[in-house]
Amino acid sequence: MLIVMDRSATEADVARVVESITRMGLSAHTIPGEQRVAIGVTGNRGAVDPAALENLHGVFEVIPVSHPYKLVSREFHPDDTVVSIGGVPVGGRTITVIAGPCAVESRERMVEIARAIKERGAKLLRGGAFKPRTSPYSFQGLGEEGLKILAYAREATGLPVVTEVLDTATVDLVAEWADCLQIGARNMQNFELLKAVGRTGKPVLLKRGMSATLEEFLLAAEYVLSEGNPNVVLCERGIRTFSDFTRNTLDLSVIPAVKRVSHLPILVDPSHGTGKRNKVIPMSRAAIAAGADGLSVEVHDRPEEALSDGPQALTPELFGELMAQVGPIAAAVGRSS
Ligand code: PEP
Ligand code: MN
Repeated sequence: MLIVMDRSATEADVARVVESITRMGLSAHTIPGEQRVAIGVTGNRGAVDPAALENLHGVFEVIPVSHPYKLVSREFHPDDTVVSIGGVPVGGRTITVIAGPCAVESRERMVEIARAIKERGAKLLRGGAFKPRTSPYSFQGLGEEGLKILAYAREATGLPVVTEVLDTATVDLVAEWADCLQIGARNMQNFELLKAVGRTGKPVLLKRGMSATLEEFLLAAEYVLSEGNPNVVLCERGIRTFSDFTRNTLDLSVIPAVKRVSHLPILVDPSHGTGKRNKVIPMSRAAIAAGADGLSVEVHDRPEEALSDGPQALTPELFGELMAQVGPIAAAVGRSS
C-alpha cells in the first residue's frame, strides 16, 4: 500500500501517519518527493484496510499496490533512482559504461586494461576476483588477491570498481574493497546473499538470472531494498532460450518493461548476453536505443590469452568504437554520456 500525502501536509502529519502504520505492526518507508511526500507500507501479509489511514490529517490518497514487489515499484517511488557508485551516477539522464576483463588476472593486465577503458570513456571498472565457473576445473579467480589488485587499479586510474560477491561468507571482505557488489546471474535468487548485500548499504549490481521472469528479477531487488539499501542497479545479461547462435538471448524488451513498473536503473551486459565479440557493439547500440541506463562490457587487451570469456571480450580499440557509436544514439534518445 502507498500513502500519498497532501502537498500541504506537515512533518507532524507525516510522523502521525508513520506512527499509525507502525502501531498496526507494519513498516513505513517515507519517500520524499519534489511536490509531496509518499509513505510506502510493507510487512502486511494481506490487504490493509485503507479506512484506518485514509482519514488521518494530511493524507491525500491511499493506493493499494497490485504488485508483489513494493519498494522497487514506481508506485512507491515515481522518480527514477540515481545510484552513486563511488561518486559516479548510474541512472537519470546519463549513460554509464562499466568495462573491464571478465576476471582479474594480474596487476599488470588490470592496470593496463583500466587505463585503456578510462581513456575511451568508461566510468567504472569491472573484473571478477571470485568467479562463478560452470566447471570446477576452470579458473576460479584470484580471490582476495584479486580484490587488492582492483583497489590498486582504482588508485592508478580513479575508476571505482564493481566486482562479484559469490557467497555470504565473503560479503564483508568484498565490501571492504569494492565500490559496488555484483550479484551474478547464478546467484540472483540466493536470498541470504541478497539480504547480506542489502545490509552492507553498498551499491549492488544485480544481474538477471538466466531463467528469471521480470517479477522474479524485481523481487530479488526487493530483497536488497527491504534491508534498507536503496542502491540497486539492475542488469540484463541474456536469458536461456532455444536460440543457439548466441550464448544467451539478450532480452532488450525487459528495459521498457522495467522502466514502466520500477524506478531502478537498468544496465545491459551485451558480453554475456551474446557471448560473441562480433555481436557486442550492435547489441550495445540497441540497448542504449531501447532506454538502458548504460552498459557493462568485457574488455581485454589480449582476448586470446584471457583466462575466462576471451571470445566475448572486446579489445580496447573495439571498445573505443563501441563508445563512439553509442554516443550519438544516447544523444538521440535524450541522454548524455
Ligand atoms: C560476470 O559479469 O562476470 C558474470 C559472471 O556474469 P553473469 O553472472 O551474468 O553470468
Ligand atoms: Mn565473464
